[in-house]
Amino acid sequence: MNHYRDFDNYLKEYPSENGYFGKYGGNYLDNPELVKAFFEYAEAYNTIAKSAQFISELRRIRKDFQGRPTPVYHCQRLSNLLGRTQIYLKREDLNHTGAHKLNHCMGEGLLAKYMGKKKLIAETGAGQHGVALATAAAYFGLECDIYMGEVDIEKQAPNVTRMKMLGARVVPVSRGLRTLKEAVDAAFEAYANEYKTAVYCIGTAAGPHPFPLMVRDFQQVVGDEARAQFKEMTGHLPDRVVACVGGGSNSIGMFVPFLADPVELYGIEPLGRGPKTGDNAASVTYGKEGIMHGFNSIMLADENGEPAPVYSNASGLDYPAVGPEHAMLHDMGRVHYETVGDDEAIEALFLLSRYEGIIPAIESSHALAYAIRVAKEGEPLSVLVNLSGRGDKDLEYVVDHYGYGDDVIKKYQNI
Ligand SMILES: *Cc1c(COP(=O)(O)O)cnc(C)c1O
Repeated sequence: MNHYRDFDNYLKEYPSENGYFGKYGGNYLDNPELVKAFFEYAEAYNTIAKSAQFISELRRIRKDFQGRPTPVYHCQRLSNLLGRTQIYLKREDLNHTGAHKLNHCMGEGLLAKYMGKKKLIAETGAGQHGVALATAAAYFGLECDIYMGEVDIEKQAPNVTRMKMLGARVVPVSRGLRTLKEAVDAAFEAYANEYKTAVYCIGTAAGPHPFPLMVRDFQQVVGDEARAQFKEMTGHLPDRVVACVGGGSNSIGMFVPFLADPVELYGIEPLGRGPKTGDNAASVTYGKEGIMHGFNSIMLADENGEPAPVYSNASGLDYPAVGPEHAMLHDMGRVHYETVGDDEAIEALFLLSRYEGIIPAIESSHALAYAIRVAKEGEPLSVLVNLSGRGDKDLEYVVDHYGYGDDVIKKYQNI
């Protein structure tokens, strides 16, 4: 195992000036106005976000407003139940608003403020990104337009209420299937018209340059903190680091600080109900190279190159592509991509709730489930899991479909 040795200069080499991670990334939008807007955005990011003033203001926001650093926690009861593997969590569920997404939204909001913009624009599917961005907009005193399909507005009523409470305008999108894909198109169109006074904020480490770079950098605080905290707690580095992969923001932020270390990295994709097309959202595992939403990466597409239908019981993971940096790290063999299905993730959710008093998001439960799978193999390893968010938003769904998990707990007690 020495494939980590080539990564000392990684952050200087990737992405390239035009936003390429190897052959992945770039900007493939066909609207020249938007290409220009994103180019200006990249320029602003590369100058403003590197200034001492920006960095110190963001540091203060993270501490005073977000409650960072979030702790690293050793799951002693759960580890004892399973055997010799020691499971640790990076507690992003304790970040303000209950998930990691606020880390890049506050960075994007601060950048918008420094650029003199008045408004933040985004789309949202399940509403998690919309809530995080509306929070940032309220903090910075910016307007906020969140584009959301009418079907999603109906399904995600609590998050719609949250966004409105925070002062955001939720714009219903009524075209096509009235879900995330149409909301993305509507948000891009709005941005093309308003880019002189507004910025567009994507919800993950994907999209055209500079988003994969910018979101990666803002999320890197997670891995930087976790690496130092884990070392202080144990005196060494973890054997494995695990994170779930939707578009890839919590995972890339967690992984990058460990790239040059002798640590095995695991990105966990949602297997949903199984390997059949439409039953999962495991983009790296089952996808291939292509262009979607303005960037080149690995994705699940149909014969016409259109996004394929995807599914997972974790709505934050059902995205048909993955950020370009993941595609490159996959090809390099530096990060392993594995899959966990709906039911295995829910088992992990029940175990963490009962054994540690922490109810995780279903997204994060996919990463935890992989650590539990490793623990069942009985090796004396230390595994650090990025617990990307808390599960309050998922309780109703879990109880309706799976109950309270008594059968799962009994099964594990009898092993
Ligand atoms: C959105 C979300 C994810 C997935 O997004 P990434 O960009 O892949 O990190 C994971 N966990 C939680 C709690 C989320 O809200």
